[in-house]
Amino acid sequence: MFPDAQRYLEVTEFRRPRVALIFTGGTIDSVGTDRLDLAWYIEAGKRLDDHELVNAVPELQGIADVTEVPFRRLPSQSIKDRDLFDLVELIHRLVDEDKMDGVVITHGTNTLEETALFLHLTVKRDRPVVVVGAMRPASAISADGYLNLLNAVRVAASPAAVGKGVLTVLNDTIHSARDVTKTATYRVDTFQGRDLGPLGYADNDGRVLFYHQPVRPHTTATEFDVTGLHALPRVDVVVSYLGADGVMIDAAVGAGAKGIISAGTGAGRPTPAEDAALDKASAAGVAIIQGTRVGSGRTVQSPGLKKKGWAGADNLQPWKARILLALALTKTSDITEIQRIFDTY
Ligand code: GLU
Repeated sequence: MFPDAQRYLEVTEFRRPRVALIFTGGTIDSVGTDRLDLAWYIEAGKRLDDHELVNAVPELQGIADVTEVPFRRLPSQSIKDRDLFDLVELIHRLVDEDKMDGVVITHGTNTLEETALFLHLTVKRDRPVVVVGAMRPASAISADGYLNLLNAVRVAASPAAVGKGVLTVLNDTIHSARDVTKTATYRVDTFQGRDLGPLGYADNDGRVLFYHQPVRPHTTATEFDVTGLHALPRVDVVVSYLGADGVMIDAAVGAGAKGIISAGTGAGRPTPAEDAALDKASAAGVAIIQGTRVGSGRTVQSPGLKKKGWAGADNLQPWKARILLALALTKTSDITEIQRIFDTY
């Protein structure tokens, strides 16, 4: 028996924790052409069969009663709004009807932080929800997915994780979905909180340890409720670079964008041509959020931005700001309100 499982048994009056395991695909259950296929296994399009990953880690049952729940399995860049809504509904059902104490979602690492943030802002239950992935396929030499999965179940079964929002667990490290981002294409320590750091660790002695907790509202404390929604308002991300004109911005508006995240240079500076196109979009009622392409640090609502009627992205990566803006637009199109939402979450 692992130490944290033992503690959980004590607090749950001798009931073993129940953890649901939802597989959405990604690297963790991918199979490469051989043990050294560490880079292009996704192109082989091969996955472990149902139950194979769980059966390969029998130690899971020493931590919790683990139940595999069917879902669709995809490379993570294929995930759409519909999948996100279905996940929220499934998590609610697993907690309410199946009385799960925690939920683990396996996910491709490429967009893991986007799904995790969406769930962090929209799941209306306080049970631990842990999103886990791997950097090496299940068939690889030194595959990291097996231990990541075990650690994710440890965290999901841990009373210490209750009320901490959606968490990610890879490389023994627990991050808040709000803060985490993928920082390297192939390294196993790719997930980092950058300026904000991790919340804790699922450590090698089997213990789940938190050193920090999220202070911004999440899950049950947010104003976002996606029940009954089938699509999010369209929000596009436009990246600045030397010589960028307004073509991408005009195209986003033409495609019906209700909001644009401008990933500007430095502390949030688009080119003059982009500035003009964004002003035009803003005048047409499109919500503009100024962010940065830098990868860390805040983009603030400067007096200049306030005058233009644009908001600042805080320290969210542009693709995460897209999730928050899309959710904000389900509630309001008022830019002062939208800035409040970015300052709150
Ligand atoms: N490392 C994988 C790739 O880039 C991740 C796959 C995924 O996110 O589904 O192909």
